Amino acid sequence: MTENCIFCRIISGGAATELLYQDAQVTAFRDRTPAAPVHVLIVPNRHIPSLSDTAESDEALLGHILTVASRVAREMNIAESGYRVVANTGPNAGQTVFHLHFHLMGGQPLGGLRR
Ligand code: 5GP
Ligand code: ZN
Repeated sequence: MTENCIFCRIISGGAATELLYQDAQVTAFRDRTPAAPVHVLIVPNRHIPSLSDTAESDEALLGHILTVASRVAREMNIAESGYRVVANTGPNAGQTVFHLHFHLMGGQPLGGLRR
């Protein structure tokens, strides 16, 4: 738990945010400003600022986050229609919350990656 980190507070149950999934390593909850009909954030329970702060020792955790993303996608009924998993990292990606999180988005066509 890191002071003043909103995601740490959500993980520990100290914020009025419904948890969609939680286990010993990760937590999933809805993004408060959804960019798609389904927009879930999947985060490690341990405070890691960004993907740039991970190391080889985090490989199991990072892999687990992706399998949880797949599980939540199935539970939200977007596994067949498709979805996108994104981890904004640093200034050029527009990262705004510095507790590592993976966006899981779907429920409508998401457009391409090129602009
Ligand atoms: P980033 O821009 O860092 O990749 O994504 C941060 C995301 O966290 C944004 O999509 C934003 O809407 C979401 N977010 C920020 N604060 C809160 C909060 O207090 N609760 C929830 N559920 N989502 C939040
Ligand atoms: Zn945190």
